[in-house]
Amino acid sequence: MTDPTNSYLITGVSVLGGDPTDLLLRDGVVAAVGGRLDAEGAETVDGAGLIALPGLVDLHTHLREPGREDAETVLTGTQAAALGGFTAVHAMANTDPVADTAGVVEQVWRLGREAGYCDVYPVGAVTVGLAGERLAELGAMADSAARVRVFSDDGHCVSDAVLMRRALEYVKAFDGVVAQHAQEPRLTEGAQMNEGELSGRLGLAGWPAVAEEAIIARDCLLAAHVGSRLHVCHVSTAGSVEIVRQAKEKGWNVTAEACPHHLLLTDELAATYNPIYKVNPPLRTPADVEALREGLADGTIDIVATDHAPHPHEDKDCEWAAAAFGMLGLETALSIVQETMVDPGLLTWEDVAERMSYAPARIGRVRDHGQPITEGAPANVVLYDPAVRRVVDARDSASLSRNTPYAGMELPGRVVATFLRGRPTVLDGKLA
Ligand SMILES: [Zn+2]
Repeated sequence: MTDPTNSYLITGVSVLGGDPTDLLLRDGVVAAVGGRLDAEGAETVDGAGLIALPGLVDLHTHLREPGREDAETVLTGTQAAALGGFTAVHAMANTDPVADTAGVVEQVWRLGREAGYCDVYPVGAVTVGLAGERLAELGAMADSAARVRVFSDDGHCVSDAVLMRRALEYVKAFDGVVAQHAQEPRLTEGAQMNEGELSGRLGLAGWPAVAEEAIIARDCLLAAHVGSRLHVCHVSTAGSVEIVRQAKEKGWNVTAEACPHHLLLTDELAATYNPIYKVNPPLRTPADVEALREGLADGTIDIVATDHAPHPHEDKDCEWAAAAFGMLGLETALSIVQETMVDPGLLTWEDVAERMSYAPARIGRVRDHGQPITEGAPANVVLYDPAVRRVVDARDSASLSRNTPYAGMELPGRVVATFLRGRPTVLDGKLA
């Protein structure tokens, strides 16, 4: 007799938007896909009208633990992730202490396992203390129990070209990747919003597109020079998309991400002076949004990553210039991708699986996630209802923070269930 809690039969579900079929999850794997499955003892989930996608993988999440447990913890952040359909997240290194040693990355990795909602893959800092002065112990983090493969000073740019070159050379030894937060520091001193006519009118210091594009261009050249892997975090400008496109045409090993907020929101929102719209890199122009959507559609931008950045209200409910940069993103990412990419016909659900599961798992060298829903694959699956619409209520979030820019906005779709190795982390849209 099979343990019923270990076995789920999902009936009449559309895998990646295909014809309705049954899906049997048993003993942590996809046991069968097809019609009239032998599912004795299994719990049945009605999949009619739902789309099954592979569990989503986020390459860019801020979980804030250790150090800012008032903003988020590994537990609450991974609960938010599960509610958003994620089964794996990469936790950025800008914690306190910084994740720049084997000890800290192992602590974050272990907290993720204990919480059990989502696999947590710690990102290692590139430089000690994110200070941009000397390389952190990249090899020790790679060899640790956390098996770190993604390294980033995210929040800060590795602006020193020599350090960036050394980091790219170093990670080659263990097939790692450097994920760059592309922000030329001198060009963005005091910057508050996208530089343009609007920043002048609002009296907020401008953040020029070239501050992002100059670093991306330099790093693409460095990655090609040393023959290493570069990943570009949160691409936000049309010029950046063009540089990544050219690098890929040359066959260089460069990947890039776009964030949901940059696919939907524009710099015009800064005119409200509401810091909920303050983010790094800043919201850009409608033309930039258009270019990002095209880049994501044609594969120039490989993945969608959330840059989920929780902040307690005292860091956001203040005047614009004093407010922290960043927005929540895990629980709304799939809905925004549907709104901006799927509903307009720019991506199919198969493409969404590629951009939000397969590709981020490949870039992060994560083996147990990002696999097609076929027999024998790990049962990391999300069931999504694309037909419903919902109004976002910040109070519903599992995050400890409330800084969502989508509160009050109507968005399509809802995550109905998330399975991590065959075990539900979310059922009926609620934490299981
Ligand atoms: Zn960043």
